[in-house]
Parts: sequence; structure tokens; C-alpha cells
Amino acid sequence: MSDSASIAASALFRLDDWFARELPELCQPWQASAAPSPELLVLNTALADELGIDADALRNADGVAMLIGQQLVPGSCPVAQAYAGHQFGGYSPRLGDGRALLLGELIDPNGRRRDVHLKGSGRTPFARGGDGKAAIGPMLREYIISEAMHALDIPTTRSLAVVSTGEQIARDTMLPGAVLTRIAASHLRVGTFQYASGTGDAALVRRLADYAIARHYPQAADAENPYLEMYTAVVEAQASLLARWMLVGFVHGVMNTDNMTISGETIDYGPCAFMDRYNPSTVFSSIDHGGRYAYGNQPGIAQWNLARLAEAMLPLFAANADDAIPLATEVLQSFTELFHGHWAAGMRAKLGLVEPPVDAALVDDLLGLLHMQAIDYTTFFRSLSNLVRGNGDPTRALFADPNAFDEWAQRWSAARSDDARPAHDVANAMDRVNPIYIPRNHLVEAALEAGTAGDIGPFGQLIDVLAQPFDERPGLQAYAMPARAEGAPYRTFCGT
Ligand code: AMP
Ligand code: MG
Repeated sequence: MSDSASIAASALFRLDDWFARELPELCQPWQASAAPSPELLVLNTALADELGIDADALRNADGVAMLIGQQLVPGSCPVAQAYAGHQFGGYSPRLGDGRALLLGELIDPNGRRRDVHLKGSGRTPFARGGDGKAAIGPMLREYIISEAMHALDIPTTRSLAVVSTGEQIARDTMLPGAVLTRIAASHLRVGTFQYASGTGDAALVRRLADYAIARHYPQAADAENPYLEMYTAVVEAQASLLARWMLVGFVHGVMNTDNMTISGETIDYGPCAFMDRYNPSTVFSSIDHGGRYAYGNQPGIAQWNLARLAEAMLPLFAANADDAIPLATEVLQSFTELFHGHWAAGMRAKLGLVEPPVDAALVDDLLGLLHMQAIDYTTFFRSLSNLVRGNGDPTRALFADPNAFDEWAQRWSAARSDDARPAHDVANAMDRVNPIYIPRNHLVEAALEAGTAGDIGPFGQLIDVLAQPFDERPGLQAYAMPARAEGAPYRTFCGT
């Protein structure tokens, strides 16, 4: 690194290496592979501002080199993190960052510690058979969906930049390579605990838990049983997260334990997609043959993953397993009720209902109706505010058999009859929780295809639309429309 380059980089920001210092057993120092001719494809200037980084400075050659780990900012000690994981139910004791690096942690202007992480930065000691690379398409996909999730107010890792490397990488065809710069509350995963537990070093699991408490759940440190308290907080965070996914129709697609965070952020946008027509069996991933990670299975899978976390943490809960297991089981079982509470509250808001309890049959019957008549989930909920405003036609028109809907709508109106709020306030409140713009699968594909071919325009337009998912704007009708329901079902690929 030349002196002038290092000065330019130091002016941008600095990083800390708390994780690498504190838990050296859980990572390996490593450098990003060289990129032959890096080019900035997309920069998240709003996120750069939030992080206190001068976005303009990230655009020049030094800035781009820094974004992909070619030039290290002060304090950065890049590492590949170790983790294990249950993948589709089968346990792999050693996964880890095969094509990713943690550059370090940035303290943002609000004092929040955020991981700065690369994806697609070359082979690491955890690469196994992989090439360590990523193609432009899947990195742009992660950018689109993670930023859409953020705008939908769902906890998620963020995307700061995508840089094309100038390299062609081998997939089904040769594809242009890219590196994603990802920002996260941390990259601690359920699989990180599984890996630590698998070493047999009880003190390491304890240090990992202490780190997780200090970083994410500091209030747990004061509890009578800090580790059980931390576990309880993770269960609560995931119950809330899963409810939010379900309420917007998000299908993660690969809920392996290595893809579930301790922080409660959504992570690892691979074969994810948003459900269009309501159907609990919706699966998009080409490799999810059994439907393990289908839309409707997600809460149950989250709880299954949290059981794996409890197993890894068990020795921390009590001195012996006989005491620890009932403690962990009680917390784990609370997931069901916590999830349901968040989900029901969210459903109430979507339906414009204020007072709990809502008749569960009202919601169940609606979902049954949407399923039976193959109604677009997002379009339906968004259109419902029209009824409150006195215009039922757009919603009725969604149904091949509107009579069944009319019958339901009468019950719904009855449930709303005690609401003293003015109708337009109710309708506006509904519009604030029922998005009009989600990342529609056909639009995402079109943006990725154009981006891969060198035209980033459609990607930029899509990002702009998705940044305000609740605000209807003129001229954007095409972004609100589901794809025409013809041809083969939509399929997504892991992009590895
Ligand atoms: P993911 O499906 O992205 O969650 O990745 C699962 C595991 O496979 C992780 O350990 C990744 O680091 C690893 N992996 C995925 N793609 C590659 C690749 N192209 N090269 C090396 N490792 C990879
Ligand atoms: Mg992963």
C-alpha cells in the first residue's frame, strides 16, 4: 500500500477488530483475492451517510479498492469466520466463510458497532470445493432484497456496494464476477455457536456467549442467568423477525442454521423471493425439493434452529444437563406464543383492526380464501384500504368468485364497527403496513439480467421504487403488478 493510498483510506473511516481479537479460535486472518479491474456498479449513498463515510470518496479508485478489501483501512484485520451448520437438516461441522471476509467493525455516528463484510472476495481456508467467487447477478439480488427488507422495516443486513471484479467466473456459463460489501449488526450465527460447541472447549462457548451478550444483549449481563437471558432474547428477536417475514410474504429459501443470526437480522439472501399468490407451500429455491423451507414452514424451522442453538449453549445454562434442559425447553417453547403474538398484531394492523382479540377464524378464513382463489398476497392487502375508503370494486375484482369475498368482507366490516377513528385515518394506517411495492420476481430477474449484461439502469430504478414501499407514486403501476401467472413456476438458485 502506498503512503498516499493509505492516507486516502484513513481519511474515509477506520475499523476495529474486536471479534478477531476476542475470538481468534473462531476465525482465520486472510486477504481478499486480487480483482483484475474493479469497477463500482452500485453504491448505497444513504447507507454510507448513515455509517458516517464520505460516499464521494468511496467512488474513486482508492475508495473502491477499500470497498473490496484490496486496500485496508486503519484498524482492519480481515478474517474468514468459522461456523458450522445444519444444512437442510444435515449437520456440517465445518462450513465457515468460504468466499467471504469480515474486514472489521465500524462504529457508526450513533455509536453502533457494524460489521463490514465482503462476499465473493476469493477462496479462504473454508472454501472446500468452491471457487470463492460470486457472480454479479446474485450479489445484485442480495442488494435489492436486503434493501427492500430494510425499507419494509424488517431487521436485516444491509448492502453498501457491489463492485464488479473484471473477472469471468465459471457457473453454468461464464459470468462476470462481483464482490458485495455487506453491513451487519454482526455475523454471529446459530452455526457459530454450533462450531464453538463442536470444538469441545466449554470456555470458548462461554467467551462467544459473553461476546454476543456484550454486542447484542448487554442487558442480559445483569440477569441472574445471563446465558439463559441471552438465549431468551434471541428467541424473542427471531420470533419477531419471523412474524415480519410472514406478514410481507417473504420466503428466505435457505434457513440453514448458518444462515440464522444471533442479532435477529435477516441474513444471506440466496434463493429468497417474495410470495405472489398466497400459498403456504410456496417454495422458490431449485434445491429445496422437499419444501423444507416453504413459506408456511418458516416459523417451525426457526424454532428448530433455535433448538440447535440451545443444544450448543446448554452447558452455559446450568452446571448439569438435567437442570439445563428444562430451562432451555421452556424458553424454546415460548417461541410459538411469541411468534403468534407478533404475527397476530401485525395481521390486525394489516386488516385495520384495532382491538385485540381478533377472531382467529376471520384471519384463517381470509387466508383460506386467498389460497383457494390464488390471490396475489401483496395486491390483496394493499387493495383492502380501498374498501375502507368506500370503494370495494378493486378488491372484489381480484376474486374469480367475489361472493365468497363479499361474505368475508361483511364479517370484517362488523369487526371494524366499533372503531371510532375516521375512515381515512384507518385506510392510511393500513397503507403504512401493507406495501404496494415489493421486489416482484419478474422485475428482480429483469434487473439482474440487465445488470449482468452491463446495464445497471433497471436495477437503479427498482432500488428507487423499493426504497419507499408504502408510498404510491404516479407512473409506477408496473412495479406494483404481479407477473402474469403463466409458464413454469418461478425458480431461484443459490448462486454459489
Ligand atoms: P450459503 O449458501 O451462501 O449460505 O453458503 C453455504 C456455505 O458454502 C458457506 O460456508 C459458504 O462460505 C460456502 N460457499 C458458498 N459458495 C461458495 C463459493 N463459491 N466458494 C466457496 N465457498 C462457498
Ligand atoms: Mg450462508
